[in-house]
Order: sequence, then C-alpha cells, then structure tokens
Amino acid sequence: MPAPKPLRYKGRPVPYISVWSSERIELPKLTVVSGALALRGERRAAGVLWKPWRARLGVGEPALGDVHGPRQRECMLRKLCQVCGCQVVRDELGWPWLLEDDRGQDGWPEREVTTHPPTCETCQPVAQVQCDPNRGRFASVRVGRVVTDGVYGQMYRPGARPMPVGRERVVFAGDPGLRWMLGGQIAATLLDVTVVDMRTQAPVSQETVRG
Ligand SMILES: [Zn+2]
Repeated sequence: MPAPKPLRYKGRPVPYISVWSSERIELPKLTVVSGALALRGERRAAGVLWKPWRARLGVGEPALGDVHGPRQRECMLRKLCQVCGCQVVRDELGWPWLLEDDRGQDGWPEREVTTHPPTCETCQPVAQVQCDPNRGRFASVRVGRVVTDGVYGQMYRPGARPMPVGRERVVFAGDPGLRWMLGGQIAATLLDVTVVDMRTQAPVSQETVRG
C-alpha cells in the first residue's frame, strides 16, 4: 500500500487540520441560555459549545496556520495523523506525536498539554520542514496514554451580552468556566511519553533529552 499523502496546494503539502477559505462561517449571534454561553442555531454538545465551521476540505485556499476545529477533534479522538488524516499506528511505546521541543524544561515531555493531534512517522519530516512556521523546533515522541479532557478556546465574560475576555486558553472537563467558553479544539494531556529519534523512532537517551 502506498504511503498516504497530504493534500497539496501550489506544490506545498497542506495539513489535514488546516482551514480552507470556503470553510469559514460568520459567527452566529452569541446569547445566554440557562446560565451558559450559547450560539443561535448551534447545540451545546456534551457540555461544550464549539465554534462552527463548514466542512469543505480542499476547496478554496488553505490557511496553513489556522486549525479546522472539527477535523482537529476528529484527529484527537480517532488518533488520525494531523497532516495526512490517516490512522496512526501504535508501537510498544505508544502513538507517534510531534511536540514543540522544550527539552531542558523540568519534567518535559511528561504531562504535556497539547492541541497538536498525532503525526504519523511518514508525515513527521514533512510537518517539521514544510507545514509549520516554527520549523525545526519539534521533537518526535511516542505517547503511551492520551487524556482528551481539555478544551482550547475563547472565554467570554458572563452576562446578558457576552464579550470575549483574555487570550485563548485551555479549560478542563468539570471546570465551571467551560460554561463561558467558545470551544475551538481539544487539548490532550500526554502521559508515558518517550522521546524518540524522528527517523528511526528509537528512544533517545535521557542525557539528550535534558539537553
Ligand atoms: Zn500522516
């Protein structure tokens, strides 16, 4: 079976989770229902109000830096590669992932909270070199356990006329603040994380990790 390939636009690979221009929707009117943020015509699914998007993958022009919320959540929940959209395959150390390389920071990469879905081995060099403006600042890891109980989004000030407040951030399930958030993406907590060599997927030594 040939390796799956990401969509391309003008010769450049476009990640599966990137937004295409035809997918943007003007935000419906924000209201308050039962003491929680609401959007006219949108449902609050399982306690989270999600920002709406159209699903028109590949139609129009891609915005590489913008993330399509529903596809990001699909990748997190079904363990799909964020670049090509294929199912990632687990090995004895766990799922393949790319993380911002924060080696040297205490505890990194265990319990890292991230909005990046998994990235398959084939796509990792592509993602690092061509898809992301922060090229070269990524580490390849294997993740043994993934807890998807965070929501990354915009908080709103409670009240009859909800107004955005602060920068986008992560709120976890059970936090009453979730009632006043417009959710964008799932944030996952990564556990049992092993740093590996991007090419061989073999674990790298602790000394290397500590930098
Ligand atoms: Zn892939």
